[in-house]
Formats: sequence, structure tokens, C-alpha cells
Amino acid sequence: MSENNTIEQFNKYVMPTYGRYDVVMDKGAHEVAVDDAGRKYIDFGAGIGANSLGYCNDEWVGAICSQAHKIQHTSNYYYTKVQADFAEKLCQMTGYSSVFFGNSGAEANECAIKIARKYSFDKYGSNRYNIITLVNSFHGRTLCTLSATGQDVFHNYFFPFVDGFKYVEANNIDDLREKLDDTVCAVMFEYIQGEGGVMNLDEKFVDEIFKLCEEKDVLTIADEVQTGVGRTGKFLCGENYNKKTDITTLAKGLAGGVPVGACLAGKKCANVLTKGTHGSTFGGNPISCAGGLAVLNKVSSDGFLEEVQKKGEHFRCELSKIPEVKSISGIGLMIGITLKSKNAADVVKSALDKGLLLLSAKEKVRLLPPLTISYEEIDAGIKIISEILA
Ligand SMILES: *Cc1c(COP(=O)(O)O)cnc(C)c1O
Repeated sequence: MSENNTIEQFNKYVMPTYGRYDVVMDKGAHEVAVDDAGRKYIDFGAGIGANSLGYCNDEWVGAICSQAHKIQHTSNYYYTKVQADFAEKLCQMTGYSSVFFGNSGAEANECAIKIARKYSFDKYGSNRYNIITLVNSFHGRTLCTLSATGQDVFHNYFFPFVDGFKYVEANNIDDLREKLDDTVCAVMFEYIQGEGGVMNLDEKFVDEIFKLCEEKDVLTIADEVQTGVGRTGKFLCGENYNKKTDITTLAKGLAGGVPVGACLAGKKCANVLTKGTHGSTFGGNPISCAGGLAVLNKVSSDGFLEEVQKKGEHFRCELSKIPEVKSISGIGLMIGITLKSKNAADVVKSALDKGLLLLSAKEKVRLLPPLTISYEEIDAGIKIISEILA
């Protein structure tokens, strides 16, 4: 653990909004992080899924550095080639018509919410503004996305919250039918609830969302901030369900660890946001776009997503051999582990002491390793997990 005074200095000046571990991260290479005392950690968390290509991937570093040498930022009153290239590639890979770039998952979701409300306002007038989200969802930390988040623990202190959200229990079709009335303009959901505990939605429930929304001209919004960009072995998690929502939001792994958020819109709502209705100073920042383009090039390269699927299967196969493991959720390299008797937070802490970074989500141990992780590191990390769970 760290021997210098960085932690003291940090805590003196940075607001204490996180429960942090006593580790000062200094650098990394591929799927291994290194702290300031030189201790190495196999990284099964990837900065909560953001470091999709691990640390210091050559192509990614090259793209970021050469962009920084060229132009690091300009206002959105001008065009840049790199934002055009990133937008084109993202739309081509997903089949969406257009994109708005922000800087985070919350911002991507704010944009989606604004599109849904304006789509409905333009077409049906002012009283059709409610958005259905799911109980146990997570959509971000801004006031509006906190309001969208269907977990009571988040609806505290910051009153008044933003009006216009109704919460439906995940996988409860009757609840959905009852609440999807003519005041609703959109249904927003995660195919796999990430922060909510790596909970996969049932196919039947997803089918029902699409069926009802189609009938009522209600927009579907997939929050793929955590599930997107190859995480589940498909570029979008919706492909696992053979579904495509009107709007999809992306962030976390999209630019390999530099800030970015993207709100993708299909034909139906591609032109809802018009001049002056939305914006972001840093949105579409050239360095973020260069990083994002490097990620897209890698993820779309031959056999890459098949390899993510194979690694996901390998993880699941090896983890299920551990007697303490009760069940495994998620898809691909988004993995939730339910334990029989051990406490997830304790396991995460023990793993850190043994040189392995894990995440937890509710009562589960959660893994979001870099998509580029090697089998060698997977096996080394699983060995540590099985030792802790023995
Ligand atoms: C992390 C996350 C967000 C919020 O993203 P930020 O970049 O922290 O604003 C929103 N939705 C989902 C599903 C997430 O996992």
C-alpha cells in the first residue's frame, strides 16, 4: 500500500464522494495496473468498463497523441474531420442515422430524454412527457438522470427532483401495461442492469416493450452506457435480443478511457434536436473522438467480437467450477457472480490485497475486464478468486 502522503493530500482537497481503497494508481500496461509502490494488479474492472482496450494500447495511444499534436479542441461552431469520422463509423457500425456527442453516460441519457420529450411535444403537444424507466435501473448522477434512476436510495437530499418519470418493475409485463398510458413518450431501460446487480432483462419483457411502444408511437431508449461497445460480445447488447431501439446511449468503454458520451438516434427521431436546442462545449472533443475511433477500429476488426464471446464463455466455465459460486449473470465480458455465503464487498477487498481488481454490484461480484484481456491474465485472476473463495 502507498507510503507517501498522496492519500492525505487528496482527501484534504477532493470532496469525499467516494469510498476509496487505500491505493494510489500510477500507471498500467495492457490488463495490469500498477500502484505508486510498484505493486501490480490484474484488472478485472477496467475503470468500470471504460478502459475497453486496457492500459496503453499502442493504436489508442498513437491516435490520442497525434491528435493532441494536431488540434486538441475547437468550438462546435466549427467542423472537425475527426468528429465526422467518428460519427460516421459509429453510425455505420450500429445502423443509427445520427449522433450527438457529450462527455459522459449521464449526458448521453440527458440527450435521449430531451429527444424523447421534444419528439412527443412536436407531434402531440405538451402533456405527453412521462418517461418509463425500470425499478433498480441506473442512468446517471445529474438531477434529471438521478430522477430517471429507479432506485429510492438515489432520491434523497436534492429535492425537488425532475418530474415526469414512472418506474416499472423489470420483467413485470402487467406493471408495464398498466403504466404505459397516453402520457408516456418513451420507455428507457438497460438490457442488463449494471449497477443494479448485473440483472439481465427477460426476452419476453423486452418483446413486450417493443410491441407496446410500436403500437403507441412511444420511443424506445436503450441505455447501453455499460453494455455497449462490444462488452457483451456484440457491438450493442440489443443485438443479443435481436432488437434495435429508437435511441441508444453509449459512454464508458466508447473512447477507451477518455471522457465521451454518445446519443444515437434512428430515422424516426434523428432530426428532433435542431439548431440551439442542445449543446456541449466539450462534446465531440477531437481527442475523445480520436480515442473513440481507435476503439471502434479495434472492436470492428476481424474476429474481435467472437473473441470477446469466447473469453466470456471461458470466464463462465472456469468460475462455475468454484464451489462457492452459486450463479453467474450477464452476457459476454459483463459478468455478475452470486456467491453462496461470502460477502461480495469482502471478496473485492481481499482480491485487492492479493493483486486483483474486482467490482461489486449490489450483492454480486462484478467483472468488466478489458475486452483485450489475455487468457493468461484471465486464468491468473480466476486463480486468485478461487483462492479467496476456498
Ligand atoms: C455508468 C452508467 C451511467 C452514468 O455514466 P457516467 O459517465 O458516470 O455519467 C449511466 N447509465 C449506465 C447504465 C451506467 O452504467
